[in-house]
Amino acid sequence: MSDTSIFWFRHDLRLTDLPGLVAAAQRGPVIPVFIFDDRLGGDWAIGGASRWWLHYSLASLESSLKQRNGRLVIRTGDSVTALATLAEETGATSVFCSRQYQPWADPQERQLKTTLERQGVTFKRYPGTLLFEPEAITTGGGTPFKVFTPFWRACLKQPEPSFPVDVPKLQFPEQWPTSVALEELALRPTAPNWAEGWEALWRPGEQGAGDALAAFLQARVQHYGEGRDFPGEPNTSRLSPYLKFGEISPRQVWWAAQEKRRAAPENASAIDKFLSEIGWREFCNHLVSQFPAMPDSAFNPKFEHFPWATDREKLRAWQRGQTGYPIVDAGMRELWQTGFMHNRVRMVVASFLTKHLLSHWREGELWFWDCLLDADLASNACSWQWVGGSGADASPYFRIFNPVAQGEKFDKDGSYTRRWVPEVADLPDKYLHKPWEAPPLVLQSAGVTLGSSYPRPIVDHKTAREAALAAYGTLKNLAL
Ligand SMILES: Cc1cc2nc3c(=O)[nH]c(=O)nc-3n(C[C@H](O)[C@H](O)[C@H](O)COP(=O)(O)OP(=O)(O)OC[C@H]3O[C@@H](n4cnc5c(N)ncnc54)[C@H](O)[C@@H]3O)c2cc1C
Repeated sequence: MSDTSIFWFRHDLRLTDLPGLVAAAQRGPVIPVFIFDDRLGGDWAIGGASRWWLHYSLASLESSLKQRNGRLVIRTGDSVTALATLAEETGATSVFCSRQYQPWADPQERQLKTTLERQGVTFKRYPGTLLFEPEAITTGGGTPFKVFTPFWRACLKQPEPSFPVDVPKLQFPEQWPTSVALEELALRPTAPNWAEGWEALWRPGEQGAGDALAAFLQARVQHYGEGRDFPGEPNTSRLSPYLKFGEISPRQVWWAAQEKRRAAPENASAIDKFLSEIGWREFCNHLVSQFPAMPDSAFNPKFEHFPWATDREKLRAWQRGQTGYPIVDAGMRELWQTGFMHNRVRMVVASFLTKHLLSHWREGELWFWDCLLDADLASNACSWQWVGGSGADASPYFRIFNPVAQGEKFDKDGSYTRRWVPEVADLPDKYLHKPWEAPPLVLQSAGVTLGSSYPRPIVDHKTAREAALAAYGTLKNLAL
């Protein structure tokens, strides 16, 4: 006898390597459903750039299902209510999904299980979003790891993640339940359309994800080890939005990387480095699943007493890429104009916000949440706290990036900075990262008028550094 099942798509918008979809398909017809709940998560409800990506990701999933004579049923509102209603409408006897790790996911999944079971419907969740389940990776004492290196070492001692499962043969119901049209979700910005041109930059969806991974492994991974820190060079995978929306699974990434290692053993150390970054994604998700307050509160409780400043004007200058430090402004503009920022520059702008401007890391976390296509609750929260000094295995607070030195080291030829900050593009390399030191004639011939065509620095590095260290000093004697 065959039973109809609902497969609930969440941050796993793909058809390959979905154990829950395979289980559903084995029982009989499958109703694929996505529920858009734009209130889920409160402050962490889906941000603007992610909405844009989600639109195209759902369109791509719809089209993949259509090619198999299926559909994607879209509903809105609270997921538990929507799924219970859909099960009742369709007579489905089971609901399957992939497990998620946000602080609200587990309570929601438990509530769903209770509600469905009362209706006589089975609910089951499957792994597939991470390489390793949080419960599987613990210290000898059974507690969660708080430091990355031993965490990743423990992961690598586990049996290898299982091999990705293929797209199952899907059957669909004879009668389809009603669905909201994708356009009705109004996920793309209109007035103004700040995402104009993004369609040419990104290709959301499972196909785009697979192509991005293949292109990276084929032509760029060999430069990853030493090249990943240079924002002007395309040495990283740019897989983060695809991983965030689950258009590719980390197991697919893992196994494709292992295959590359076999084919090109000379790239082994670059591949290990790349996989260890996937390891950071795991670490962040494990941390947030075990310490659910992480997106909102300092992991190191001392930092709840940090004397943060609240200068809205400076915060605004940072958000707009008008700080007067070209590498910082380049990053913030790349973010605004493309929905992405290179990791090295993320660290520089985050350090600038939390240390030079003494703004609370949560201000940056919220801005990134709205602007990043890859905005991921765990990676964003952990990274902000890492840079801000309050996180697990954090960079020490007293390590304050000098934005000039960072620019000179990681964007030596200025290609990245010149692209995003054209006002200073004609300055010679020597002054590109510190226009205020350029002699008047140099500024004039580069068409730069400080304070007019390009801002003067909104803070002086040395003074800001001393203020940050003094602020940090106030925590030292706190007995907590
Ligand atoms: C302040 C700050 C905020 C960040 N916010 C996010 C976020 O919201 N979402 C997000 O995915 N990443 C975030 N990162 C981590 C990192 O910057 C991005 O994952 C990376 O830049 C994505 O580019 P890529 O895909 O080319 O990375 P690659 O270098 O090719 O790495 C491969 C994958 O590993 C993962 N990864 C790499 N670095 C990290 C890291 N430090 N922490 C966690 N995962 C990592 C990503 O999934 C990435 O796609 C943040 C970093 C900082 C400093």
